[in-house]
Amino acid sequence: MFELITLPYGAKDLEPVISERTIGFHHGKHLQGYVDNLNKLLPGSGLEGLTLEEIVCKSSGGIFNNAGQILNHNLYFTQFCKGGVALADGGRLKAQIIKQWGSVEAFQAEFVAKGVGLFGSGWVWLSRDADGSLVITQEPGASNPVVRGLKPLLTFDVWEHAYYLDYQNRRAAHLEALWQIVDWSVIEKRM
Ligand code: MN
Repeated sequence: MFELITLPYGAKDLEPVISERTIGFHHGKHLQGYVDNLNKLLPGSGLEGLTLEEIVCKSSGGIFNNAGQILNHNLYFTQFCKGGVALADGGRLKAQIIKQWGSVEAFQAEFVAKGVGLFGSGWVWLSRDADGSLVITQEPGASNPVVRGLKPLLTFDVWEHAYYLDYQNRRAAHLEALWQIVDWSVIEKRM
């Protein structure tokens, strides 16, 4: 049985970037729904006892969609904190970003542009490949970079449920604001 993750911050702590109301629906209703659905679908599927990553790599249909959304949201919700934590100077992640994009700002601009440019519902990701290079990918629906053999590091949710209560149609404004609450120490640990 999978369980709803506990948030590592209070429901109001990400305001005004993400409101308490959005956290309530996004974590308490949408993510809870994916957890409940997966727990109903898994018995008899042959995938019981596997990790979320393993299920995502081996499944399709409803099991893939619900397991993928749990994996995605678990990574999403645990990468934020009140006020954010800056990307560490002298760290290997910042060095790699500057090596590949020229500046952190140029990386952020491409990341947001790929989130804005993703048609419909999905996720934009920063991942590490087998050679240690960083890559930005757009994943439709419930997908996750693990299906491509990538190690997911950072993600912005571009499903409308992630921002519609606070930003309505202004997806770009929401994605730009998220940089204020990213805890880069978490992203460094994932690398
Ligand atoms: Mn979501």
